Amino acid sequence: MGKAGESMYDVAIIGCGVVGAAAAFQLSRYELDLVVLEKENDVAMGASRANSAIIHAGYDPKPGTLMARLNVEGCAMAETLCRDLSVPYKKIGSLVLAFSPEEMDTVRMLYDRGVKNGVPDMRVLTRAEVLEMEPHVSEKVEGALYAPSAGIVGPWEYTLAFAETAAVNGACVRRSSAVEGIEDMGGYYRLRTASGDVDARYVVNAAGVESEKIHCMVSEKTFEMKPSRGEYYLLDKCECFRANHVLFQCPSAAGKGVLVSPTVGGNLIVGPNAEGVPDESYVDNTARGMAFVKAAAAKTIPDIDYRNSIRNFAGVRANTDRDEFQIGVVAERFIDLAGIKSPGLTSAPAIGLECVKLLEGCGLVMKSKKDAVTTRKKTVFKELSEAEKKAAIQQNPLYGRVICRCETVTEAEIVAAIHSPIPPVSVDGVKRRAGSGMGRCQGGFCGPRVVEILSRELGISPLEVLQDGAGSRILMSETKREVEA
Ligand SMILES: Cc1cc2nc3c(=O)[nH]c(=O)nc-3n(C[C@H](O)[C@H](O)[C@H](O)COP(=O)(O)OP(=O)(O)OC[C@H]3O[C@@H](n4cnc5c(N)ncnc54)[C@H](O)[C@@H]3O)c2cc1C
Repeated sequence: MGKAGESMYDVAIIGCGVVGAAAAFQLSRYELDLVVLEKENDVAMGASRANSAIIHAGYDPKPGTLMARLNVEGCAMAETLCRDLSVPYKKIGSLVLAFSPEEMDTVRMLYDRGVKNGVPDMRVLTRAEVLEMEPHVSEKVEGALYAPSAGIVGPWEYTLAFAETAAVNGACVRRSSAVEGIEDMGGYYRLRTASGDVDARYVVNAAGVESEKIHCMVSEKTFEMKPSRGEYYLLDKCECFRANHVLFQCPSAAGKGVLVSPTVGGNLIVGPNAEGVPDESYVDNTARGMAFVKAAAAKTIPDIDYRNSIRNFAGVRANTDRDEFQIGVVAERFIDLAGIKSPGLTSAPAIGLECVKLLEGCGLVMKSKKDAVTTRKKTVFKELSEAEKKAAIQQNPLYGRVICRCETVTEAEIVAAIHSPIPPVSVDGVKRRAGSGMGRCQGGFCGPRVVEILSRELGISPLEVLQDGAGSRILMSETKREVEA
């Protein structure tokens, strides 16, 4: 057995996307020393921040797969979790639209699959029923599968809520700590990270698109990562009236296809395409990809006004050569939560529970923590009643200063975000926690004010404030540049 370092963790989780965070959340209810190691300077920086944000009902995965079970379980857990953890969530239901008799056959096949998977309350709708529920859908629609248990969620808020609650329960969330190598020390693992060595008796691989690399540090290759990029339009709130439910088209071999859906923030999201890319860094939007998305979405809703587009973005799926999540024990005391493609956001809380079971099966003793926290409270000023707003301002005058005008986010909320359990280090980190910069102007107005507040609260120079990831400095100099005559 090797010589252990000063601190020995019971469990180290590699990656703090929604899967690693949900695993940490579930494990933090037990008397365990936990560390979460994240490569980036914040949590939710991978697929968990750039996706369709749908809580899928669970009719899509093949019956009998782990993906089918965890999807339906995760969907059922979402409502209570989001209420308890103050995460934006709306159970708006989804429609899979059919535009031909063949697609109606697909709809019926998905209905049968859903029944086998245990999806509750589904119905096959007629054309008239679809058009009554969705008056802006193309007249060419022939029917749809309706799944009322589907919903929409704030994906990075979900991730943050799990990670913050785990941190409140004592988990150490260590950012800017890419795992670069793993050594089996006999009885424990030594993880070589960008911020120093970490020793842990058990390891959980939740590294998203990088999970194949982490897997291969301790085991033979058993699956191959096939990253796939999906690109989106996010439209202003004035376009949200066009869809009441999540509107899917019939799935194909390429995936669930292009959807049109409201978001929890009241916007309209349109996308994604599916295009193979070499790795997770390929998050650019391409003219080709965006043109494809626009053309495909026109089949669902012909008259979306893209002049109201406020942002384009892209995310990379951790697809593999297997049509299944790669979850299991792959080496002694080493668990893979790997290749978690869609519906990974939906399945995450159920994957977290699965992780607890797998670790227990590997001999980790789970003793419940008596005082474990399972709720999180967050004040969202714009959602308060007039009387509550008045009381909030009286108690803390910073609630009276609106910093983000588009989304009515106050200085008090931004300061609370900066001092939250996993403090943000960038303007986008504040955006993910407080919602500033999410509106029509996308931070054009509030961005410089958030820089000032971050600088003041963290006691750092404005020059050190980042826009987002490592190295994304916004300001270059404190002095005015000389203008050449
Ligand atoms: C375009 C798109 C649309 C999607 N739509 C939906 C949807 O609507 N509904 C749904 O349920 N699912 C959806 N998904 C799937 C869902 O987003 C993912 O399954 C989920 O976010 C995966 O979470 P994760 O934690 O496994 O991965 P990630 O969120 O990618 O997290 C992995 C983390 O590991 C970190 N990491 C990587 N390497 C290392 C290392 N060496 N050391 C330390 N840390 C490391 C990364 O920085 C990252 O933060 C979609 C995905 C995409 C891309």
